Amino acid sequence: MTKSLRTEQQWHEELTPEQFEICRNKGTERPFTGIYEDCKKVGLYHCICCGSILFDSETKFDSGSGWPSFWDVSSSENINEIIDESHGMKRVEVTCKSCDAHLGHVFEDGPQPTGLRYCINSASLNLKEKSC
Ligand SMILES: [Zn+2]
Repeated sequence: MTKSLRTEQQWHEELTPEQFEICRNKGTERPFTGIYEDCKKVGLYHCICCGSILFDSETKFDSGSGWPSFWDVSSSENINEIIDESHGMKRVEVTCKSCDAHLGHVFEDGPQPTGLRYCINSASLNLKEKSC
């Protein structure tokens, strides 16, 4: 797979300031502010940066955390999981494999069948609704 390599300047031009801060600078949107936090629409969530398919609405659940939460990824081939020891915590960072966009973190307190909770920033996602 080819990496979507763009320069910082190109990402600046293609993304909104919020998207840039979260995806390229590993920022975090404020809880309960993201457009997909409470979204129940059916479709696939793509990477806002490169369009790679990341999550399926079928695995989205209401975690009450304030961020869109999923109990599984759409395809593990599209996601990287990296140990993140910043901020004095040991967490697992989730990034887009094709463009390295920061998406959020994965925790082990999610519902079955996986027991995982992918806690993802709305700003890194682009929902393409299924037209039944
Ligand atoms: Zn991407």
